[in-house]
Amino acid sequence: MLVVAIGGRRRELVPGALTVGTPGADQAFAALLKDLRAGRPMRLSFVAPFGVAWSIATYELALLTAELVNRHGSSAELSVITAEREPLEVLGSEAAARVTALLALAGVELECGRPVSGYQDGRLKIEAGRARSVDAAIALPGIMGRALPGVPRNQDDFIVVDECGLVRGEDRIYAVGDVTDFGRYCSFRG
Ligand SMILES: Cc1cc2nc3c(=O)[nH]c(=O)nc-3n(C[C@H](O)[C@H](O)[C@H](O)COP(=O)(O)OP(=O)(O)OC[C@H]3O[C@@H](n4cnc5c(N)ncnc54)[C@H](O)[C@@H]3O)c2cc1C
Repeated sequence: MLVVAIGGRRRELVPGALTVGTPGADQAFAALLKDLRAGRPMRLSFVAPFGVAWSIATYELALLTAELVNRHGSSAELSVITAEREPLEVLGSEAAARVTALLALAGVELECGRPVSGYQDGRLKIEAGRARSVDAAIALPGIMGRALPGVPRNQDDFIVVDECGLVRGEDRIYAVGDVTDFGRYCSFRG
């Protein structure tokens, strides 16, 4: 028996934005934080793009950055722009209400139901909304599967499994985790 657990690959969903977890992103974000600590006034947007099911890192980054801004008395304007109908949509309305309250308390603006399609020349392109001028946009990545020769996969390189993790068309190969299509292709827009 073989169990495949080789994870997924991160991919950029908002061209032009700083995409979390991609090469160089940590250094770029550290440079932004250094500017904030130095008191440089900045407008930052944290983006949960359409297609990201696990959006919690957006809210963590926004709230931690707000704490830093408040501690250093900087005059930054922070916002969260999410494609979700409400914050942390997958966790339900109680979590959404709590996160909404935390963001308000921290002075972070929130826009929901706004898929962002790109960031260029200081402007966030927002579907069905007005563009927003910001100094930097920090977006979560999407996930793609990872091809493993000899193991069947779909067009996005995800291994197709049943609810027990058994790979479709196989009887001795299982797959688990981000490399599988299990639970994917759900949509914020319902
Ligand atoms: C910013 C961010 C925040 C997140 N926060 C949370 C959270 O709070 N809670 C949560 O539940 N999830 C969270 N997730 C998702 C979570 O990280 C993943 O779902 C989880 O790590 C997937 O585990 P995995 O074992 O499938 O893959 P991975 O953790 O990616 O592990 C796969 C491993 O396989 C190795 N590998 C790759 N190819 C091969 C090969 N050919 N042969 C051998 N080994 C190979 C890789 O090097 C890697 O070590 C977050 C994701 C992101 C991007």
